[in-house]
Amino acid sequence: MTLLDGKQTAKKHKERIAQEVCALKEKGITPGLAVVIVGDDPASRVYVNNKKRDCAQCGVYSEEHALPAETTQEQLLALISRLNHNADIHGILVQLPLPSHLDEQDVLLAIDPQKDVDAFHPFNVGRIMIGDYDLLPCTPAGIMALLDEYGVAISGRECVVVGRSNIVGKPQAMLLLHRHGTVTLCHSRTKDLGEVTRRADILVAAVGREGLITGDMIKEGAVVIDVAMNKNAAGKLVGDVVFEEAAEKASFITPVPGGVGPMTRVMLLRNTLTAAQKVIGAEVGN
Ligand code: NAP
Repeated sequence: MTLLDGKQTAKKHKERIAQEVCALKEKGITPGLAVVIVGDDPASRVYVNNKKRDCAQCGVYSEEHALPAETTQEQLLALISRLNHNADIHGILVQLPLPSHLDEQDVLLAIDPQKDVDAFHPFNVGRIMIGDYDLLPCTPAGIMALLDEYGVAISGRECVVVGRSNIVGKPQAMLLLHRHGTVTLCHSRTKDLGEVTRRADILVAAVGREGLITGDMIKEGAVVIDVAMNKNAAGKLVGDVVFEEAAEKASFITPVPGGVGPMTRVMLLRNTLTAAQKVIGAEVGN
């Protein structure tokens, strides 16, 4: 069994990104990311701080717009409009979740699709559907990069994705399909989950339920990707997959933490760089 080391792989990607940022700066463009955070959710604060640190490490300019919890929809939309028109900003990320009085969908729709570095805007979602995309949602993009790093073949293989959210499960299924996997998408109404997952050559678990995927649900030699980040009773970060059981069957498996998480983070930098490169029509690197 080989561990799919997201931390190491993300480090390599960061180094490549830093080089491309340097090259872009020589052409007079510094990639810029604006991160918008509304309210004082502690988890969101940690995520935003991490994003700012990642940017600094790769030479990407970042600015934070921290708004009070009572910010109105109009105020938030006005800020997004200003950022849409700011030539120094190539990527806009609104940290979710937003306070409940704000309309998340409306806010995401207001972001210029060219600056939509989360790739949540329906324009970019549609482009992913037809297989003509440049900005990808960070988690599925990170998983594809991790599979590629370890030379995992996708074409013709049975790929099972558990979870059908718009940010992970659905785009993940599309990306595997574009790479010619035979894809099955499971969700809470799937009748016999184990019967489906046991067919998987590549299994992606993105549910958010500790212990959901046990060893007996995994095919011998499968590649197992655990996206979930659950806190267990001891306060430890765990995935959906029972790691010790799965590791006995899997050919490759991601750890939690240190698997998908770091890859997700690095893909935000990749998207910001891609958005900046588009400005001068520069060659987009991988
Ligand atoms: P989500 O929006 O809550 O979606 C969860 C999905 O799981 C839904 O499609 C749901 O089905 C399905 N589901 C629930 N119970 C199920 C069951 N018993 N059997 C099969 N499917 C079931 O979650 P998300 O945003 O996609 O995130 C999923 C997990 O990934 C969470 O733990 C989250 O924290 C983690 N995550 C990690 C990263 C990272 O960087 N590592 C990034 C994003 C998310 P229905 O559609 O039928 O309700």
